[in-house]
Amino acid sequence: THSPRYDYIIVGGGTSGLVVANRLSEDFNVTVAVIEAGDVELYNTNITSTSKYGNAFGTAIDWQYKSAPQAYAGNASQVLRAGKALGGTSDFNGMTYLRAETAQIDLWEQFGNEGWNWESLMPYYKKSEYFQEPTASQVLRGASFEPETHGTSGPLAVGWTEDMLNQEIVSSINQTFGALGLPFNKEPNAGSMRGFTVFPKTIDRANNVREDAGRAYYWPVSKRPNLDIFLNSFVERMIWHPASNSKDNKRSASGVVFVANGTRSTILANREIILSAGSLRSPLVLEQSGVGNPTILKKHDIDVVVDLPFVGENLQDQTTTDMFYASNNSTNATGAGGYAAYFSVDDVFAEDFDAFNSTVAASIKQYAELTANASGVIDRSVTERFFRSQYDLIFKNKLPISEIIVTPSPTGTVSVEYWGLLPFSRGSIHINSDNASAQASINPNYFMLDYDVRQQIATAKMARRFANTAPFSMSISDETTPGLSAVPSNASDADWAKWLKSTYRSNFHYISTAAMLPQELGGVVDSNLTVYGTNNVRVVDASVVPFQVCGHLTSTLYAIAEKAADMIKARHA
Ligand code: FAD
Repeated sequence: THSPRYDYIIVGGGTSGLVVANRLSEDFNVTVAVIEAGDVELYNTNITSTSKYGNAFGTAIDWQYKSAPQAYAGNASQVLRAGKALGGTSDFNGMTYLRAETAQIDLWEQFGNEGWNWESLMPYYKKSEYFQEPTASQVLRGASFEPETHGTSGPLAVGWTEDMLNQEIVSSINQTFGALGLPFNKEPNAGSMRGFTVFPKTIDRANNVREDAGRAYYWPVSKRPNLDIFLNSFVERMIWHPASNSKDNKRSASGVVFVANGTRSTILANREIILSAGSLRSPLVLEQSGVGNPTILKKHDIDVVVDLPFVGENLQDQTTTDMFYASNNSTNATGAGGYAAYFSVDDVFAEDFDAFNSTVAASIKQYAELTANASGVIDRSVTERFFRSQYDLIFKNKLPISEIIVTPSPTGTVSVEYWGLLPFSRGSIHINSDNASAQASINPNYFMLDYDVRQQIATAKMARRFANTAPFSMSISDETTPGLSAVPSNASDADWAKWLKSTYRSNFHYISTAAMLPQELGGVVDSNLTVYGTNNVRVVDASVVPFQVCGHLTSTLYAIAEKAADMIKARHA
């Protein structure tokens, strides 16, 4: 029998993959296949409900990848969550819609990705967005925006939920952050994020359901005859046309091999294969297909198709800590929060700023060396350049370095959750076997570099200061986690570090495992998102994001995928 044939094959029907599927299939002359390991979860209330964050964790739709033991944090491993469903991780994420800082998207172009900067990405943020203006009553409860920042005719519904908390709570939280020197930020999605904000979410307000990538980008076009979705279908690897004699020696992928219901099949691509399996999977599909570091591939008896040592390197994530307070019930919380505070380094370090600044400045060389040594592949001097620019963003441009999210809940607890936005530590992800479904080696190296630890400590202290500052302090009583017996008010930094490293979790913002960068800087894809050494394989998902963003990832991933779809169309026009 003949294998089915499509013009484009998209591996992974998640956040990014469904954007590309929708846009490419707008042209009825081309055929598009999406191969997704998960299933349709339209009626799974853990997903659709706007108030059940976390309920889907650990269920069948969570890949729950496992990290290697974390050597700099007590050797425990971390659960790395990712969605296994049509819609991918957008099916169970926190729905936060917050973009990035202008300067950090501009950095992509400064490091050689022509055409990628804040101004050129903005039209794509807007193209993807269907912004639902807050109602008068939502405005009273803190929702704010500037119209010119938002798109109103895109597929992705963005707005505020009906069940927002009351005006009293938001004003108390806002005043408390104000007392700590933080202004209210009316529009955090315009490229400048410092301040307190009541952020919008990816929700469909009219139907009061989560807006995932499926609802936004797939279901409205699901009847297109030129768009096929293969569900419950796990892609193992790509297959290749024989090497040609062409001068550039580039290889062309001919199709993919996938397993469904225990049966292995092949489908073929006329034009391109787009990997959108997520940052903890796309690099593995490359390696299983013979694209990667030859030393790793040979160890698992995989023939080298393209020698590309940086596949799976440069893995970056953030670390999250939760603190809890008992509410004395005057918060009267019976709805959803959505309160984020973005702090810059001088907010967080205050009178210690100068000392911290000089310590970090003096450590950059060492950070780069430790990172290069841990990797064994990436270059020390290149990493040092990245770290210098990251240093500048933090200490000169004063981009936010910490995010604190305050969530009063109806159960009488208030959670104060925080993470460092711009950690320096980097790690890697690689295959462990030529069996594509085997667990990979994933090592983010959390807390490897001193900046990351000191940042988390200073943010923890800031979080506690927030809870002890009026007026918000009047609505809570005791700190229940960690509590003053575990971490006293005069705790040393060493005590804080010990507690933080024993209780943190991944922030789930993994990026850069197939980085968009020039090859000499450790890139895996070029500025058209094409994998080096190939003619027709692209990566479009969080893997390509070269440096961490201060926002949450999906808004930026939707924009990247919109731009990628235009690039693919332009090439074949
Ligand atoms: P995904 O959306 O994960 O898509 C990858 C798809 O590929 C999945 O559907 C997967 O099943 C499929 N796949 C994987 N391997 C294969 C294979 N071999 N064969 C076939 N299919 C395969 N971001 C925000 O902006 N706001 C938030 O509030 C927020 N909260 C988060 C909370 C959690 C718990 C997590 C895990 C992430 C959160 N993020 C948030 C981050 C954001 O959701 C993700 O970064 C983003 O959705 C990833 O998109 P992606 O396209 O890279 O991959």
